[in-house]
Amino acid sequence: MTPRQIVILGTGGTIAGRAARPADNIGYTAAQVGIDQLLAAIPALAESGPLVTEQVAQLDSKDMSFAVWAQLAARVSHFLARPEVQGIVITHGTDTLEETAYFLQAVCQPAKPVVLACAMRPATALAPDGPQNLLDAVSVARHAGAQGVVAVCAGTIHSAWDVQKIHPYRLDAFSSGDAGPIGYVEEGRLRLLRNWPLAQSGQAQAAIKNIANMLSDDDWPRVEIIMSYAGASGAIVEALQAQGVQGLVVAATGNGTVHCALEAALRQAQAGGVKVVRATRCANGRVLPLPGSVLADSEGLSPVKARVALMLDLLRSRT
Ligand code: ASP
Repeated sequence: MTPRQIVILGTGGTIAGRAARPADNIGYTAAQVGIDQLLAAIPALAESGPLVTEQVAQLDSKDMSFAVWAQLAARVSHFLARPEVQGIVITHGTDTLEETAYFLQAVCQPAKPVVLACAMRPATALAPDGPQNLLDAVSVARHAGAQGVVAVCAGTIHSAWDVQKIHPYRLDAFSSGDAGPIGYVEEGRLRLLRNWPLAQSGQAQAAIKNIANMLSDDDWPRVEIIMSYAGASGAIVEALQAQGVQGLVVAATGNGTVHCALEAALRQAQAGGVKVVRATRCANGRVLPLPGSVLADSEGLSPVKARVALMLDLLRSRT
């Protein structure tokens, strides 16, 4: 059987948002329009081939929870395993899209395309960007040879490993930083510049069957992000340690440098059994570790993605 079906999973976000006035692009409520209603407004989608839809969640992605991630990972792996399914599109808010993208790539390691679609303007806007982004996402999911988790926004395809939201308002709100995008969608055709995200052995992975059952946030290891800045202290580290935090990611300055007071507290936490990982707060590039570095390096992951990786690492070490 030729796999031709595209599954569209709805999770909410601005793409499903509603405002009181069409001219209002910012004073809206996210996650109001159901996935079937969204699709009904884009007849060209149905013309592209068979579609299956499912509303997995309906939330503003700023409020993304581990329970929704668990459910999403379970539905993604369920549909990916079906031979008739060619790919999956997930409608998602832009705020935590990069975290969900990284999470799904690390956990599901898909050999088929899983495409996150989003919008910067609500569905009720005078000129909403969601319909075109969704159409482009389906074009990517239907592309022969596409694989892995990617995000599509403003005609640009970003890898789950590299994608970051870099603008709070512009329609082209995402960047792949130094790595550059995977390619572009132009009138339904793809112009590819580099490889699809491949499964990376050695990256944090956890058994999907365990994650799918972790529906309570309390089941997940507690990992927090701390930033290093002028005048930083170790107070937050000590407070978190007292609360039983299991992992800490430090968003370090520049090439992984950390304020001496904060670094002393992090070293102490590490000696006390807390896993500490260092990422850079710089938007581009990665930390180039120096020999003898005491704090582990995020291997190019941004602080929010390094946090997900550390959580998955801690989960794996539980089993
Ligand atoms: N707060 C919204 C969300 O992340 C923003 C968006 O989707 O653009 O769901």
